Amino acid sequence: MTKPLNVLLVEDSADDAELLELEMIRGGLTPSVRRVDTMDDLRRALADGAWDVVVSDFHLPGFDAEKALQAVSESGKDIPFIIVSGAIQAEDAVTLLKQGAHDFLTKDSLARLVPAIERERREAREREERRQAEERVRVLSLAIEQSPVSVVISNPQGLIEYVNPTFESVTGYSFREARGKPLEFTRYDQTASDRFRPIGDGQPTADVYQAEFCNVRKNGQLFWEHATVSPLRDREGRISHYVAVKEDITARRSFEERLLKQANFDDLTGLPNRVLMLDRLIQSIAQSKRSGTRTALLFIDLDRFKNVNDILGHRAGDTLIQEAAVRFGNCVREGDTLARMGGDEFIVILPEIEDGGYARRVAERIIETSGAPFTLQGQDLFVTASIGITIFPDDGTDAQALLRNADLAMYKAKEMGRNGFHFFTQEINRRMQERLAIEGRLRGALGRQEFLLHYQPIVDLRNEQVIAMEALLRWREPDGRMRMPDQFISLAEETGAIRQIGAWVVASACQQAKALLDRKDGFQRVAVNVSPKQLQIAGFAQFVAAQLDLFGLDPNSLELEITESVLLDDSPETAANLTSLCNDGIRLSIDDFGTGYSALGYLQRYPFHTLKIDRSFVSHAADNPKASRLIETIVTMGHRLGMEIVAEGVETQEQLVFLRDHECDFAQGYLFGRPAAI
Ligand code: C2E
Ligand code: CA
Ligand code: CA
Repeated sequence: MTKPLNVLLVEDSADDAELLELEMIRGGLTPSVRRVDTMDDLRRALADGAWDVVVSDFHLPGFDAEKALQAVSESGKDIPFIIVSGAIQAEDAVTLLKQGAHDFLTKDSLARLVPAIERERREAREREERRQAEERVRVLSLAIEQSPVSVVISNPQGLIEYVNPTFESVTGYSFREARGKPLEFTRYDQTASDRFRPIGDGQPTADVYQAEFCNVRKNGQLFWEHATVSPLRDREGRISHYVAVKEDITARRSFEERLLKQANFDDLTGLPNRVLMLDRLIQSIAQSKRSGTRTALLFIDLDRFKNVNDILGHRAGDTLIQEAAVRFGNCVREGDTLARMGGDEFIVILPEIEDGGYARRVAERIIETSGAPFTLQGQDLFVTASIGITIFPDDGTDAQALLRNADLAMYKAKEMGRNGFHFFTQEINRRMQERLAIEGRLRGALGRQEFLLHYQPIVDLRNEQVIAMEALLRWREPDGRMRMPDQFISLAEETGAIRQIGAWVVASACQQAKALLDRKDGFQRVAVNVSPKQLQIAGFAQFVAAQLDLFGLDPNSLELEITESVLLDDSPETAANLTSLCNDGIRLSIDDFGTGYSALGYLQRYPFHTLKIDRSFVSHAADNPKASRLIETIVTMGHRLGMEIVAEGVETQEQLVFLRDHECDFAQGYLFGRPAAI
């Protein structure tokens, strides 16, 4: 069913009105007609009705079509206005049409009425649509004008036709300045490969382009933008424009950059961290490859840094690291990289060098600069550095190999007495390879029963009777080669294998002690070396006690030899083990006395029975006055603390006499017997 046509009829004659209505029905319309014949009625009708068309007589008593037309236009509504009249002057008709009437017909030509109404309605609808479209455009352009993001419209060639005020205020370029320039004319890197490329008209497709890039304001300031450029197409599908919508992401970007910085830089020193260092190293290697030059890598480790942390606290440690970072930074050129690996380890990358000469100079400077005292909490502290150096491509062809070898060279530098540098050499490499191989074989050695104990006598200096035997570990490899402890103990300590090996030593020594105790006159005990690592095992003391039980031994027939470093270890396990061993009556001996920290105060912590003077003092006892005085002092002091003194490494009769004269109790050394199987 068609919608009724709302017709407002301005007509004084009811007959004429009916005639018009009939004409409309005849013409196929469904009119709903309201007739008015006064100005007031007309106004009222206009105010409350939604009219599709006004059909007006020309002459009415009291008013006329002209006034009616005026009333319609005053109502603000766009209603088609058709005049139907008897006779009328052509001039009048023209005047009214000029004033906004839409059509004019005479009463003889009523057949035109319906087509006229239909045409006017259509046109009114079109006018309305156009109005709406215009309104939409107005709102859209307002939106663009007032948009908080930059909007730029270009022609198909990518040349700017419009920029919105945000663009102007963000970039500092006015519309006039921007017009005709390429879309990305504010972009910082004009040669970037990800630039927007207009494909121009004629091309069937173009994708939406998105990018984040850096721009330059008119005043030279940089800012970041995220841009989306989309093609606009005409009815034929051809690109007529590009619209770029660009958002200022500088704030977000600087946040991301901060994150990036956190991921790449060390918080404490602000230096590149491990991640960035690796990146730079890889780049330097690539660069050296291209240019046929070398890259040097310096691995720096502060000597005894742990002591600073332990004694002065972490805050002081941090300050020292920061100070070291500044000093080291002054030793390198621009373009070199100083990075912090973490802890007290630093890396220096020297790219594109000719040979090791420059690396040597940098290393020398670093050693020199760290030689000056660091003032921490009012104290002058001497913290030296050890440096390992590797060169690409001579010492390794990739970052990992260079780092590993620099690390090895650094350890070599430490071994050579610290506070120095060492270039990586094939010798270091060979030793490392060997170490790795030994490590591999060590793993299964216990299971293959490759360990054995040799025993070395400890004699009473008064009568040269053997009072004890020290168990010394030996490793017989499958090829028959006998390895000495210095070749594998520290390795076993590093890998943790010392736990099982050490347990085996204790158990075996206890088992063999029984036989030894029965064999010799005056023989009192077996001495067993114990690694600091073993004392850190919870329950180690209980294990030892269980072994004594198992073989029916008195606790005092076992003496455990520990090194001074154990006394510095304040872990609760170590303390618990030592206390428990003492309580069980097991003897404790302090080994290699004089080589470590010699912190005499520590000796009072636990009741040591024996103190063993290190071989290095004994070997000089007879000829070096300093060494001899030291021995005197140690003996006196040890006796005061209630300990028995053993001199290690006695090889000559003179040493024996000297020791006896200085009231040393016992002695051990090749003079009395080498370690041997029993
Ligand atoms: P240490 O406890 O100081 O053992 C004495 C070392 O000095 C032994 O070397 C011994 O052979 C050597 N020695 C003894 N008398 C003389 C002498 O007159 N002249 C010279 N030049 N050397 C002499 P060894 O057997 O090679 O042991 C080296 C170190 O390995 C030991 O030093 C000890 O610290 C460690 N060690 C040995 N066995 C074990 C073990 O079962 N467990 C642990 N944790 N360490 C052990
Ligand atoms: Ca020992
Ligand atoms: Ca010793």
